[in-house]
Amino acid sequence: MKTIKEQARELNVRAEVDVLVVGAGPAGIIAAEAAAKDKSLKVMLLEQRGYMGGNLTIGLPILSFLGPKGNQVVKGAAQKFIDRMWAKGAASEHKPCKNHMSLTIIDPDQVKTVAWEMMDDAGVEVLLYVFVVDTIVENGKVKGVVIESKAGREVILAKTVIDCSGDGDVAFRAGVECNKGDENGGMQPPTLMFLMRGVEMQRLRDAICNEPEKYDMDVMPTSQFREGKFITVGLRGRILEAQQKGYKVPVARTILITGLGEDEIWVNMTRVSGVDSTDPVSYTKGEHDARVQMYEVMAYLKDFVPGFESAWLERSAAFMGIRESRVIVGKYVMTAQDILEQKRFDDAIAVAGYPVDIHHAKGGDCTMLFCEDAYQIPYGVLVPEKIEGLLVAGRCSAMDHEAMAATRVMSTCMALGEAAGTAARIAIADGVEVSAVDVTKVQQALLANDAYLNL
Ligand SMILES: Cc1cc2nc3c(=O)[nH]c(=O)nc-3n(C[C@H](O)[C@H](O)[C@H](O)COP(=O)(O)OP(=O)(O)OC[C@H]3O[C@@H](n4cnc5c(N)ncnc54)[C@H](O)[C@@H]3O)c2cc1C
Repeated sequence: MKTIKEQARELNVRAEVDVLVVGAGPAGIIAAEAAAKDKSLKVMLLEQRGYMGGNLTIGLPILSFLGPKGNQVVKGAAQKFIDRMWAKGAASEHKPCKNHMSLTIIDPDQVKTVAWEMMDDAGVEVLLYVFVVDTIVENGKVKGVVIESKAGREVILAKTVIDCSGDGDVAFRAGVECNKGDENGGMQPPTLMFLMRGVEMQRLRDAICNEPEKYDMDVMPTSQFREGKFITVGLRGRILEAQQKGYKVPVARTILITGLGEDEIWVNMTRVSGVDSTDPVSYTKGEHDARVQMYEVMAYLKDFVPGFESAWLERSAAFMGIRESRVIVGKYVMTAQDILEQKRFDDAIAVAGYPVDIHHAKGGDCTMLFCEDAYQIPYGVLVPEKIEGLLVAGRCSAMDHEAMAATRVMSTCMALGEAAGTAARIAIADGVEVSAVDVTKVQQALLANDAYLNL
């Protein structure tokens, strides 16, 4: 590739803070709130888009507040976020589900408002429309980040940075070893979500409940669909029939999610294999192809799925959601075996209940590995192996390919965010590096905020 040497230049230091959180998705908003909790620290949250929420804003339900045994396993700050959503009528109950443990439907737009209220209440300074492009690292410690915006290239210095960018951008720029995908680099494909309205919900419910052979629902009993919110994962036969008739459907399962409105369905069925969100050319092609797929999927729904005959496209999500990209190599790298065996950790900082759910890198299917009970997640997954001053929370925490296919759900990302923000706050108060924080103190603080750790 042709290169050009950039001139060295002085950069303005826009701010100096105690804790800097990069990325305002589910992990980031909760991490920032937790870091600012007792208002003793100056906390800043950076976000590239014009709103907070990340994937909370693209029409997805939050999965697995409940665990496989039906008890609530994600509580603490994540539940307090839901309490705020409930107060606005902007979230459903945590509805049990055999496939997803539980689903909590949220109003994607209200997420943005609630995130502002949370940051305002916590005293977090939010800076939108800034993209983190580099880090300042001195003597093996992250001292801050370089941002780009309409104001140019600037620096923000921090005692601790928490990378909640999803893609591990800060960690990667700071030289932390990162992995991507399975042993062949294959990553779970992304999806452009879209909302259809005018769905005759009762017709859809009746079809699933009255003709389960034709409208199969993988592991889910038909009783889940009689009333209340639901996610379909099935109708494999309908897709096969459509494909035989020449319809282009990129997935093997029909994934439909009820919205909060009575006639609303969010469709999770576009899928572009081979997209790497850290490469703009690849991500751009993904957006292009997903948009073509959206109309092909709609044609299938209208012609093969009862209730969609008169439905229309209300809107597509603002961006194509990324399931997988970089994960860091941390002090501990969690594995699927840890999850399936429910390994116990002395340094547990979160509990999760979601199964291993791998959307295949190629082809339209998925592998699910169910666990008998909820599992603990250790502090080590937040701590990069070889660098100080940095924690990494959310889907880019230290997991192998299979484990991240479980811990990537947004309830778990929020729990990891709370742990990271809390650890950063305690480390600064105690004058120690985040890698050396007293995890018992972190656990006590999390429990004091009603978190569930199953210690
Ligand atoms: C199609 C799809 C379906 C899914 N289904 C579900 C589901 O049904 N339920 C569920 O619970 N989970 C689901 N997931 C998983 C879940 O949405 C994600 O794993 C989760 O949102 C990750 O949270 P996060 O906070 O780590 O990252 P994100 O939600 O991706 O947030 C990262 C934030 O960082 C910002 N950012 C990134 N880089 C930079 C930068 N360099 N500078 C500044 N800002 C930056 C982004 O703009 C974004 O706001 C799904 C994911 C996808 C893609």
